[in-house]
This record gives sequence, C-alpha cells and structure tokens, in this order.
Amino acid sequence: MLIEDHSEIGTPVHCGECISGLACESLDLDLPDHVISKRVHGIRVIFPDGTEKRLTEEGYVLEKHLFERWIADEAVSAGASVHLSHKLSSMKRVENGRFAGWMCDGKGEQFPIQAKIVIDASGVAAVCSKTVKLEQGVPLNTMGKVVAGMQYEMLEVPTDGYLDFYIWPKYAEKGYLWMIPKCDGRANVGLVTEDRPRAKKALDEFIEITHFKELEQVPPPWKEKGNPAFGGTIPISGPFENTHHDGLMLVGDAAGFTSPLFEGGSHLALKSAVYAAETAAAAIAEGDLSAERLAIYPELWKDEFPPYDKILRGKNALFDLTDEEMSLMARCFPDEMSNMGVSGKAMVGLRLLVRRPGLYFKRIVPAMLAFGYSRAKYYGW
Ligand SMILES: Cc1cc2nc3c(=O)[nH]c(=O)nc-3n(C[C@H](O)[C@H](O)[C@H](O)COP(=O)(O)OP(=O)(O)OC[C@H]3O[C@@H](n4cnc5c(N)ncnc54)[C@H](O)[C@@H]3O)c2cc1C
Repeated sequence: MLIEDHSEIGTPVHCGECISGLACESLDLDLPDHVISKRVHGIRVIFPDGTEKRLTEEGYVLEKHLFERWIADEAVSAGASVHLSHKLSSMKRVENGRFAGWMCDGKGEQFPIQAKIVIDASGVAAVCSKTVKLEQGVPLNTMGKVVAGMQYEMLEVPTDGYLDFYIWPKYAEKGYLWMIPKCDGRANVGLVTEDRPRAKKALDEFIEITHFKELEQVPPPWKEKGNPAFGGTIPISGPFENTHHDGLMLVGDAAGFTSPLFEGGSHLALKSAVYAAETAAAAIAEGDLSAERLAIYPELWKDEFPPYDKILRGKNALFDLTDEEMSLMARCFPDEMSNMGVSGKAMVGLRLLVRRPGLYFKRIVPAMLAFGYSRAKYYGW
C-alpha cells in the first residue's frame, strides 16, 4: 500500500530533475521516452573566475513528475494500491505477544491502516523519525541541517548538452548554482545554498549578472498559477542514526541520504528503497518483523553507499578556499576531470605546489577529491 499526502504523484516538483545513466543502469530502470526531457553528457563545473572543467558521464534530465508517476504505475502493475490525499500523522505499535506491526493514523479515508512493515519515504518531512519514539519518549532520530534549493524554468537557454554547475560562493554559500537543460530550449536555472533566507535574492542577483538575464522565466508545465519559482529543502547532515526499527525502515531523504557536494538524492533514494523493499518482503515471509531481522537493511546501504563523512570533509575543505584559491586549483585540473587517475591527481598536485605551495596546508587534496566523489559511480547524481 502506497500513501501520498498530495492529491497527485510527483507535484510540486522539488528537484533539478537530473539522473545519471549509471543510476538508471544500477536500478535496472528502462526509462520510457515520455519521462525523459533531454539526454545529457555530464557536468561542466564553472569556478569563480569562469574556469570551466568537465565531468563527462551520460545521463538524463527527466520530467520528474512524469518519472514519479511512471514509478507509481509500475508499483501498481506489480500489485500495489496507491492512495492519494493520505497523510500519515501517527503510529502505534501492535503487540501480539511480540511486535506485530504498526497501527497508522492520519488524514485520508483508508486510515487507520494496520501495516506489518512501514517504509518511510516521506522525504525531508521524515515523518516517522518524529512520530516513532524510542524508550523514554525520545524520537527515533533528531533532525539534522537542511539547505534551501530553488529554481526557475527558463526558455531559449543555450546549451551543448552539459549540466552547468557554478561554484560561486558569493551567490550560493557552501552550495552551487545550476543550469540544467531540458527539451525545446527549456532549462532549470537554480541554486542550493546554506544561506536559506537569501536564496531567492541570491538567485535573482546571479541571473542579473549572467546571460540568463535576457531570458524569459515561465512557470513549469505542471504549475498553473503563482510564483514561477519552485524548489524545496535538502537534508545535509548525512544518514540518520537509526534507519530501521521494529517494523520500520527509512529510505531516501527521510533517511538523510543525499550526496554531500552536489546534493543529488534520487539515485540514493531509489537504491535504498530497493534494499528496504527486499528486506521487508523477506521479513514478512519469515514472519519476523523485529528490528533484529531488519538490521540487514542498514548493513546493505552502508556496504553500498560512499562514505558520507569523507566526502563532506572534501566539501568543507573546498569551501575553506577563497574564490581566488578555488579558481587557481581549478586551473590546475585537466579539462576532463572524470578520468583523473592517480597520475592525473599527482600532476594537479605538482602544478599546485609550483604555483602556490601554501595551498597544501589548506587541505587541497580532500577538496580535489570531492569532485571525484561527485561522480555518478559514487551516487553523486
Ligand atoms: C531544488 C532541488 C533540486 C534537486 N535536484 C536534484 C537533482 O537534479 N538530482 C537528484 O538526484 N536530486 C536532486 N534533489 C534531491 C532530490 O529531489 C531528493 O533527494 C529526492 O526527491 C528524494 O526522494 P524521496 O522519495 O526520498 O523524497 P521526496 O521526493 O521528497 O518524496 C517524499 C514524498 O512523501 C510525501 N509525504 C511527506 N510527508 C508525508 C506524510 N506524512 N504522509 C504521506 N506522504 C507524505 C511527500 O508529499 C512526497 O511526495 C534536489 C532537491 C531540491 C530541493
């Protein structure tokens, strides 16, 4: 049983809408044409002085709401029932000598719903982390930090099929700005920033000083009225401490699974959902819904997902650099960063050492490695 608090699946869209080809392969997704807006060649990173470097890897920009509807339809074909306008608000343990499931309540005609296992895919709302209590009434997880992301759809945006990611801390503090091209000259132009109150102003200022200034902003096709800007928040504190409990698993943003540098989350969300679904099916078949039985789930995602703390260290080291230092580092990178092997990295190190030896003390190596870890292979997008 699938419940969704909105009256339709997939809207409002709160995503830049890109997903790598590698993600689709690893998830065995055979995307139908109507969910693909554009095929893209990878990411071009643009540093503060305008230096451009590429991370070439093929992928897609989706019509994300159509993609999510397609996923939901696939679930229905596999036997699921979908219940829109159903908002979960509380869960009570069902005990029958031992743990026997959850009695879920909320707004929507199907409630109360008794479930053997709940998979929390509620995104940044992380509903079960707040409603499910451990001993002494402590919530399952304490909420971490979130950053703000917002974007406009624009028309007639020039593109050569790369996603443009601008690392310009002046506009996007500890974040970045993007141009994600879509079909028919459309594109998402947006940013993610730790300076939440200034997000819209900073995006407008960025647009004002770039070639985007001349372009028309329109509401996206799924949005009929109101402000054309759309977006949301992204968890940035890393995986939650407890991603499972008796009869419960957390997936995607609800578990804090996002990639630290470019904050992609769709691949991580879908992969964790596969692990949770497989774990749930096996546990239900065995009639054991306990936390001990579901403990395989965190083992699976920990084995698969890249080490968050390590990438975060790289991101922090990157944002410890001044704009000038960041640009200098970028000028030492090869034009194509996706296949920088050990010798490529050593070469960058050497160039830097010659030009600015002092940068070595600013943890330039982790900053450099952060780009490698942002590739699709490491769930970067
Ligand atoms: C501006 C922006 C741009 C981004 N760009 C990208 C990108 O280009 N590529 C990428 O990979 N990632 C991107 N991300 C991150 C990505 O969107 C998320 O990581 C991803 O959507 C997480 O999927 P999810 O299924 O875990 O959660 P969500 O997509 O947030 O889905 C959660 C669903 O649960 C529903 N829900 C919430 N509470 C309840 C409740 N109590 N009861 C019932 N239903 C509930 C919500 O309505 C929602 O439909 C971006 C994020 C933002 C904000």
